[in-house]
Amino acid sequence: MTPPRVLTIAGSDSGGGAGIQADLKTMLALGVHGMSVIAAVTAQNSVGVQGYWELPAEAVRAQIDSVLGDIGAQAIKTGMLASPELVALVAEALAGVDAPVVVDPVGVSKHGDPLLAPEAVQTMATRLLPVATVVTPNLWEVEQLTSYKVEDEDGLRPAAEAILELGPTWVLVKGGHLPGPPVDLLTNGAEEYRFAAERLDNRHTHGTGCTLASAIASHLALGEDVPGAVGKAKEYVTGAIAGGFPLGAGIGPVDHAW
Ligand code: PLP
Repeated sequence: MTPPRVLTIAGSDSGGGAGIQADLKTMLALGVHGMSVIAAVTAQNSVGVQGYWELPAEAVRAQIDSVLGDIGAQAIKTGMLASPELVALVAEALAGVDAPVVVDPVGVSKHGDPLLAPEAVQTMATRLLPVATVVTPNLWEVEQLTSYKVEDEDGLRPAAEAILELGPTWVLVKGGHLPGPPVDLLTNGAEEYRFAAERLDNRHTHGTGCTLASAIASHLALGEDVPGAVGKAKEYVTGAIAGGFPLGAGIGPVDHAW
């Protein structure tokens, strides 16, 4: 039987921990058929991103048309899009597509290496977020997109409201960088959910954000509504972080084989 199909439009991580590689591993683990449009290629390992190259707009557009023109997708996830041109192209391509879109507004890697040109943040805010069903910013990305700085858990709600003004249907503000037990806030303006978790004592968390957004997209494709998909995706990521393992000299990846 044909499983639900999920498309990731993102960057390749040569080290296999984040990006397209994390997306496809998550999709396999959750029982959907994963497909990939590669927007950029990174030279990357456990200690950082040594370089990245975006693909020509024509190549990104052609991949999207190939996949959606024949196979179709029940959900789409976007990750590293590198440049304002690619962010705008993807926003335009997804505007008419009848499938939920999960946007991970990737800006920098855990090591602080840039994955998005600074001038692309505005394009993301004005073009891509309006077509998002769910956008999953961390606190740094909230500040980049809205200039709002979250200082503590009370700041999550105003942060979410500032993101919603940019036009996505739902926002999941990831509060994991605040001190204390991590709390994420999901809202569409009318409904609000808080997802609390224990802080896991594992530094091998490379690929967490990509994995969460892909798990949300996969559960949407499997028929969950947004709060249900986020809840199940959080469970998946918690298991994946618990199993994160050392690799190379730096930060190892989360585990998808748990
Ligand atoms: N590399 C690529 C291609 C990514 O898309 C991302 C995150 O979205 C990263 C690296 C960074 O992953 P992390 O912040 O988990 O190290």
